Amino acid sequence: MKVGYPQALLYYKYFPLWERFLGGLGAEVVLSGATTKNTVSMGTIAAESELCLPVKVFYGHLLELKDKVDTIFVPRFVSVEKKSYTCPKFLGLPDMIRSINDELPPLITPKIDLDKGWREYFRTIHELGSNFSSSKRKIFSAYRAGVLALRDYHNQLQAGSTPIEFLEKKKYRKVKKTGLKIGLAGHPYNIYDTYTSMNLIKRLREMGAEVETAEMLDDNIIKREAARLPKKLFWTYEKEVVGTVFHWAHTHSVDGIIYVLSFACGPDSLIQVILEHELRSDTALPMMSLVVDEHSGEAGLITRVEAFVDMLQRKKMAQLC
Ligand code: SF4
Repeated sequence: MKVGYPQALLYYKYFPLWERFLGGLGAEVVLSGATTKNTVSMGTIAAESELCLPVKVFYGHLLELKDKVDTIFVPRFVSVEKKSYTCPKFLGLPDMIRSINDELPPLITPKIDLDKGWREYFRTIHELGSNFSSSKRKIFSAYRAGVLALRDYHNQLQAGSTPIEFLEKKKYRKVKKTGLKIGLAGHPYNIYDTYTSMNLIKRLREMGAEVETAEMLDDNIIKREAARLPKKLFWTYEKEVVGTVFHWAHTHSVDGIIYVLSFACGPDSLIQVILEHELRSDTALPMMSLVVDEHSGEAGLITRVEAFVDMLQRKKMAQLC
């Protein structure tokens, strides 16, 4: 069976797990491919205009897969830890998708809700695997292989690889380093999608900057830093962004921060205020916010990034003198 896997949203977080799991059960996993202008354009036409760009891009990836696969894998992510949840868009994704195009192949939509505990989660895994095999043993052995693949992926990311370098076996050209290090904050789909981010990581590297992202940090550090908020955030992925920026603010382990967020994203606009407040009150670490949507112009964005990097370089030189 050909199972379509949209290369968008949580692809950057969990693809190695699901690819190994589904592949281990005999499915042929077909990726929609990297985002292109056509993907964004199809997704934008299909989606409600007030949706955030990443969801529109996700729609585009579904449409890219439409005639190529027997089914499309779209998990309903409710929670990935106790008492915290994902963005409401992830909760309702399968329902929203069913309304955009009647010609899409059937969807496989396991409900991932770890707030309900591991027993319920493994019941979901079994039910999902039963679409491909009647052997419980085979299902859980494929799942274990998936968990190991995910662990290996995380290790590679913490060692400094980006998801794209790892998942697409790409190598970026080595560039002359200037000693400048930039923290790139934001959801993985905002910073690693080479089309919508306008290849930001590659461009920063070409400007001579070393780039650090949340995926390169230890999870425990991020959790500890996020726990400093006076009130607990209910959104898991936003907590990761907050914990990462708080860590950079405390340690000054980067020279500046670029925060990439989507236009029309409620959670991002809220944490943008928290981050700006933290950086204003605690440190003199500069942060630039880049808001992207389907109308963002490459020239304007790159000019802003170049000016920011230039300012950081001057600041660093002044500190060294
Ligand atoms: S967190 Fe924001 S950008 Fe991500 S899916 Fe939700 S609304 Fe969209």
